[in-house]
Amino acid sequence: MSSPSAGRSREGVTCSMGRPRSFQCQGLVLKSMSLGEAGLMATLYTPDMGKLKAMVRGARKPTSKMVGHLEPLNLVHLSLAASRPGGIDTVTQVQTLDSHSRLKADLESISRAIYVAELADGFGAEGSPNTDLYNLLLETVGTLQGDTDPELTLRYFDLHILKCSGFMPELYGCVDCRRDLEAGRHRFSPEAGGALCFDCTPAGPRVMGLSLRAMKVLRFIDHRRLPELAQLRIDPELRRELKDLLDASLKYWLDREIRSRRFLEHLERPPRLGAARGA
Ligand SMILES: [Zn+2]
Repeated sequence: MSSPSAGRSREGVTCSMGRPRSFQCQGLVLKSMSLGEAGLMATLYTPDMGKLKAMVRGARKPTSKMVGHLEPLNLVHLSLAASRPGGIDTVTQVQTLDSHSRLKADLESISRAIYVAELADGFGAEGSPNTDLYNLLLETVGTLQGDTDPELTLRYFDLHILKCSGFMPELYGCVDCRRDLEAGRHRFSPEAGGALCFDCTPAGPRVMGLSLRAMKVLRFIDHRRLPELAQLRIDPELRRELKDLLDASLKYWLDREIRSRRFLEHLERPPRLGAARGA
C-alpha cells in the first residue's frame, strides 16, 4: 500500500513566463527540523500549493530571527526564492500572522494540534493544492484553542481529512454488496472502505464492530460543521469506539502508525484513583 500522496505530481508555481524566481505564500507550519550546521527545513501546508518544503539558510545563527517564526503551528507569510525544479525553495523573509499562542500555553492542546499537523503532513501532497484540507486544518487548529470538546474536534478532523483526501469511509450502504444498511445491522472494515452489512464478509479485510450509536455520530459529523458538534453528548465508551474506527481508517490509508497519537493517549489517560484522591 502506498501513501496517499504517492503518484501525485508536483506542479509547483508557474507563471506565463515559466517558473518565477521568487514568490510569496501563506501557510501553516506543520513541522521544522535542523538542516546541516545552521539551517532549518520547514514543512508547511499552503492554500495554493498544498504541502510545501522550504529551507532557511543560517536560521540557527544567533542573528537570525527566522527560527521563532517557523515554529510548528504558526501561520506565516513567506517570501521564497524558488529552487531549480525538484529542489527545495529557500525562505528569504517570514512573518508570523498567528502563532496560536493560546494553544501553545498547554501541553495537551499542543499535542492535539501536533497530531492534526502530523495527519495533514501525511495526507497532504506537495504541489497539489487542496483548499478543503487547508481550511479544515486552520479551522481545527483554531478550534483547539477554544473551550469546545477537544476530543470531538479531533474526531471531526479525522473524518473530514479522510473525506477531503478522497478516502471517506462508506457510511450509508454496504461497501461489498452496495445494499442500503439496516439500522443496527452493520460492521466496519477500514480495508474494505467502510460499513459492511451482516451478510457480507469479504475474504481478507479486518472487520470491526460498528454500533448504531457510532454510525449515527459518524453520519452527524459527516454532515455538520465543526461548531455544531457542541450539541453532542458522548459517553467514554462511544468516544473510544469512534476513535478506534477512525484511527484504523487513518492508519490504513497512511500505511503507518501516527506517531503523535501515542503521546496524546498518554496525556489523556485519566488519573489513577489513588492519584486523584491525593490531589
Ligand atoms: Zn453487504
